[in-house]
Amino acid sequence: MCIFCKIVNKEIPAKVVYEDDKVMAFHDINPQAPIHILIIPKEHIPTVNDLEENHKELIGHIFLVAKKIAKELGVDEKGYRMLVNCNSDGGQEIYHIHFHLFAGKPLGPMICK
Ligand code: 5GP
Ligand code: ZN
Repeated sequence: MCIFCKIVNKEIPAKVVYEDDKVMAFHDINPQAPIHILIIPKEHIPTVNDLEENHKELIGHIFLVAKKIAKELGVDEKGYRMLVNCNSDGGQEIYHIHFHLFAGKPLGPMICK
């Protein structure tokens, strides 16, 4: 079982900020910004390449969850960044699809170097 499935199953701990029947969100263990949250579906979907038509509602739901978390953490007005990495060139390390939410400082331009 992958590490994020273990977090979903509460087999390993995480600082959870949101949970419902489809989605979970928790603080990244190695934050790259003052606020760095990972939002994941509970379903094990490895990458963006594995998304299907029947995941449309789930992915839309994830963005609404992101909006809710940003508001709760008080960063909705100042702003935040969402990011999804796919496969090795995309920098994906955990093969359970996840949406990064970064906030808490001006993040600057998106630089892919
Ligand atoms: P990726 O590079 O796959 O897009 O991002 C994986 C993210 O998962 C990284 O930012 C990494 O710090 C985070 N991460 C890896 N293992 C764990 C863990 O066990 N717990 C939490 N909370 N985050 C993790
Ligand atoms: Zn998984």
